[in-house]
Amino acid sequence: MKIAIDGPAGAGKSTIAKIVASKLGSIYIDTGAMYRAMALFMIRNGIDPGDGEAMEKLCSNCRISIAFLDGAQRVFLGDEDVTAYLRDEEVGKMASAVSKYPAVRTKLVELQRELAEKCSVVMDGRDIGTVVLPDAELKIYLTADPHVRAVRRAKELCGDREPDARFVREIEDEIILRDTNDMTREVSPLKKADDAVLVDSSYLSIDEVAGLIIDHANRVLKETGDAV
Ligand code: C5P
Repeated sequence: MKIAIDGPAGAGKSTIAKIVASKLGSIYIDTGAMYRAMALFMIRNGIDPGDGEAMEKLCSNCRISIAFLDGAQRVFLGDEDVTAYLRDEEVGKMASAVSKYPAVRTKLVELQRELAEKCSVVMDGRDIGTVVLPDAELKIYLTADPHVRAVRRAKELCGDREPDARFVREIEDEIILRDTNDMTREVSPLKKADDAVLVDSSYLSIDEVAGLIIDHANRVLKETGDAV
């Protein structure tokens, strides 16, 4: 079974996708990490975020591969495991820039489809239901109010401290900018697939959202007699 989870930044896709994958015995594939690895490669090669020509040329030299260690995805650039570097803010911003170039997308979509061919997957990203796995048995579009997403992210970053309003506003501005870039790019913009189930997590807990998606998955699996 293939489950596609798309949605804007900070909607909780990866947290939810991991829970759903583990409940269903599927592999979780984080496609954002692949765009981040490509971004890291461009940063290390000194490429300017606006230099599309250089990115399109250089991306064919970028060897990205994925491995699973105790069920968790690791991302490699060549032989180097770069997973630990991918969550940096600078890498996230560059990922948003590199992701609009067709040559980059074509290369990564190919890798994502190869991975999904081999086993049951829960794959999250921006274009999984619309482009990467248009035949996925279940498609979810997971979203949440931008302010709610910013508060969640700020709390994550602040740990025990309560984030102040200015910090939350800064994060909210970044989230809105990232969403606008992802939704308005020409190639594979972020949008809800026509056959995706819309889930708004603004006022739901992680367990409630995961439960909802597992219910949908079971509905689909019942049709094949495989419900968990
Ligand atoms: O999900 P994450 O924040 O890790 O993704 C980083 C960036 O990669 C996103 O802002 C988006 O621009 C890009 N991306 C994409 N298509 C995907 C996954 C991520 O364009 N399937």
